[in-house]
Amino acid sequence: MKLQEQHLKDHWNREELEEIQAKGLKKAVRHACANSPFYRQLFEKSGLDPERIEGKANYNLIPFTTKKDLRQAYPYGMTAVPLEKILRIHASSGTTGKPIVAGYTRADLNWWSEAVARICVMAGVTVKDIAQVSFGYGLFTGGFGLHYGLERLGATVVPFSSGNTERQLALMKDFKTTVLVSTPSFALYMAEAAAGLGYDPLEFKLRIGLFGGEPCSEAMREEIEGKWGLTATVNYGLTEVVGPGVAGECPHKAGMHILEDLYYPEIIDPNSGTVLPDGATGELVLTPFLKEGFPVLRYRTGDITRLKAEKCSCGRTIRRMDYITGRSDDMIIIKGVNIFPSQIEEVLTGFKEVSPHYQLILHKTRDTIKDLEVQVELTPEGFTDRYKELEALERRIKQSLRSTLSLGPRITLLEPGSLERTTGKARRVVEKEKEDL
Ligand code: ADP
Ligand code: ZN
Repeated sequence: MKLQEQHLKDHWNREELEEIQAKGLKKAVRHACANSPFYRQLFEKSGLDPERIEGKANYNLIPFTTKKDLRQAYPYGMTAVPLEKILRIHASSGTTGKPIVAGYTRADLNWWSEAVARICVMAGVTVKDIAQVSFGYGLFTGGFGLHYGLERLGATVVPFSSGNTERQLALMKDFKTTVLVSTPSFALYMAEAAAGLGYDPLEFKLRIGLFGGEPCSEAMREEIEGKWGLTATVNYGLTEVVGPGVAGECPHKAGMHILEDLYYPEIIDPNSGTVLPDGATGELVLTPFLKEGFPVLRYRTGDITRLKAEKCSCGRTIRRMDYITGRSDDMIIIKGVNIFPSQIEEVLTGFKEVSPHYQLILHKTRDTIKDLEVQVELTPEGFTDRYKELEALERRIKQSLRSTLSLGPRITLLEPGSLERTTGKARRVVEKEKEDL
């Protein structure tokens, strides 16, 4: 793909784009209904004639597809081509049930890598860059997704995969790696590890971070940027829709541009399912237009965000999605109050004495959350062995959380480095069952 072509693709005139979307939707609906056992049944059951779907105007007649639907279709119930046409299979981690299986045809692998290439170009990556992929290679879409996208763009790819931090750092230095692909948590951990091994992270050649797979708060971004001396961009994607390559940031860092010629985004009220206008916060629903092997229509991502229609300073006309404030299945309901981990993170980042390393412990008794504990590490500067000071800090954090959440959780301050570090996505919420007293 020529960079020039990519440039044109993100600068659609809006009418032209709407036309492409209408055509894309019709095509996706027809393909799904003709070839996917799941959608054939869904349309039959709801008495809906696929030929009646005329693009956006009546698109909301189609029922949503949920994670549960995809799990029930395990392993091949969503596959819309004969299996011999599937060239690769990826799957979600499956920690909360059967994994979701995604099969890709040759055409899928082709448009997917082009989509990822566009996200990389958007972040400022060029053919001259040396990109280290520190996402896991395997069933997870992140590693292979970024690998082929970067190759398509023409960058030099170092397919390191995750883990083995010490060797990652040594090669990153020797290879003069300029782009780091990882989760934000791992980028931060690597900076810490580098310092621990006696490196100065600022002496590395990293200039761009392509981070994704989990939320990255502004405080965390600043910390990563400061430690590595790079521009940290975030990008968004999910296995169910394709993998990475759905939305990404330009260097203006003002939300993630959705590749709207490839996906139709909707925001809905997660309770009523009503479609909400641009600017309103709700659950993101996505329909990819070109997916051949494993089509999905109106997929409820569970991710909470909003769409921004205003033109970006970079000139791209495609809409942006805001940073994800939470996953609807991450919502914690405690004593009748709804809380997203990101709300807690935002409060914590207001305290310079604590680091972005935190964990929420849900103490449960027979499946009911009885108590929320926020464990957070002190920064080396914030660390003290004076009990009185720690107690005062705990109190201030608790008060601040109470005014944001109307709930004052238990705060546990930890020494720097006590929480487990991850080479993939950080585990923010931990459930602990306690005996009835
Ligand atoms: P899972 O984590 O569900 O096993 P995936 O690896 O496909 O499956 O991850 C997709 C999910 O990761 C998204 O639905 C979203 O919740 C999260 N995610 C991906 N990119 C981002 C991002 N940039 N910001 C916040 N969350 C993200
Ligand atoms: Zn932009």
